[in-house]
Amino acid sequence: MHTRIDIKRNDQVKVITGRDKGKQGRVLRVFPGEGKVLVEHVMVVKKNVRPNPQRNIKGGIAEQESPISISNVMVVCPSCGPSRVGHRMEGSRRVRVCKRCNAALGK
Ligand SMILES: [Zn+2]
Repeated sequence: MHTRIDIKRNDQVKVITGRDKGKQGRVLRVFPGEGKVLVEHVMVVKKNVRPNPQRNIKGGIAEQESPISISNVMVVCPSCGPSRVGHRMEGSRRVRVCKRCNAALGK
């Protein structure tokens, strides 16, 4: 199945469904093969970390984001908020635009 991915690293996205619905954060990583994104402060899971003095790891509880499905987030337009992503040709380049206000979104 071919899924076109309109989300890029460093985009601001808003979670529209699931456990962290309503949260907003920056995209840290995109996993095109899985259709998932890693979003800062979203789907944080606590992990127990064992102390490892040789690697200077203190141990305790670490928090780490887990990837969520791209269909659960929307790109946030700086002027209208969460919105659908459209496209426009600028010369030979296809740029992403907000479908509501038509402003270009990132690169
Ligand atoms: Zn907009």
